[in-house]
Amino acid sequence: MEEQGGKAPDLLVEVRDLTKHYGSIKAVDGVSFSVRRGDVLGFLGPNGAGKTTAMKMITGFLEPDNGQIQVAGFDVATEGLESRRRVGYLPENAPAYGEMTVEGFLDFIAEARSLPDRSGAVRRVVEMTGLNEVFHQTVETLSKGFKRRVGLAQALIHDPEVLILDEPTDGLDPNQKAVVHGLIESLAAEKAIILSTHILDEVEQVCNRALIISGGRVLEDSTPRQLIARAPHHNVIRVHLNEDFLASEAGSNWIQRLREQPWCGSVESSPRGAIDAVPADGANHLSELLELLGDAQVEGVQLLEGRLDDLFRSVTKGVAA
Ligand code: ATP
Repeated sequence: MEEQGGKAPDLLVEVRDLTKHYGSIKAVDGVSFSVRRGDVLGFLGPNGAGKTTAMKMITGFLEPDNGQIQVAGFDVATEGLESRRRVGYLPENAPAYGEMTVEGFLDFIAEARSLPDRSGAVRRVVEMTGLNEVFHQTVETLSKGFKRRVGLAQALIHDPEVLILDEPTDGLDPNQKAVVHGLIESLAAEKAIILSTHILDEVEQVCNRALIISGGRVLEDSTPRQLIARAPHHNVIRVHLNEDFLASEAGSNWIQRLREQPWCGSVESSPRGAIDAVPADGANHLSELLELLGDAQVEGVQLLEGRLDDLFRSVTKGVAA
């Protein structure tokens, strides 16, 4: 497809009804979604959900049984050369060629991609991913964090518009995770990024969209914010009462008054002696609760966001992966 008027298209990945079997296993089952420039789409799903298989098909590594994939307007099945040029892929495992130096490995990738200015491309990604200090070291001697960065560097070497990152922070310590998150954020505006992860906090931090995949199917396609809004415990108000007050008659009376508020669906005890006021309509009733406090002896009040983890568990429960 020609880019019109020299303007790069914004719809960078379009996947329609993608299906893939391995023998009798249906790894991907009718998956459809699209990703625009500026999107960081999180693939969330339990082990064996089909995330890697779907990613490999978008990169052109694996042929689907059914369905269409377009990358930057190019059909992966019929215009593979063009589509592959526009995709960078970080596979799940550490890069191979461990006996090569970082320099040698990246130069090899630049050559395989027939880049006109190989050393320029290598310098650019080494700078971006902070690999200067290990440039002459062999890949097998690097820490996990640096190995991951080498993987990212090879995925970025041809400056692709689409980045597919399979568990980019798996096994990294918090500092290294932050480095990778920073890099993803810095790249996000110009590219479409798809990443898979089991870490729900990661989705909240770096993704603007999230797909929950299980049993090869898309169960949710939403923003992390919208997902959190539907999570169990969203807008629950946790009240930490003074222990003596809680045990007193005044405490019981106060809890009874709380129960009687029209907005309050139920009052539950929560860990460490606090009580949870669960809103009947799921909305934020913090101001009403604060008005009710009166002479209640309160040590803290928390409005709970709700955990993506809980929603993830409830959505994927019972779906065979
Ligand atoms: P994880 O989070 O564990 O990486 P995933 O969501 O990436 O899992 P896939 O690796 O895509 O899931 O696997 C989907 C299903 O396909 C699983 O049941 C898996 O066992 C199966 N599978 C994957 N690759 C192959 C293969 N080469 N041969 C046979 N079955 C496979």
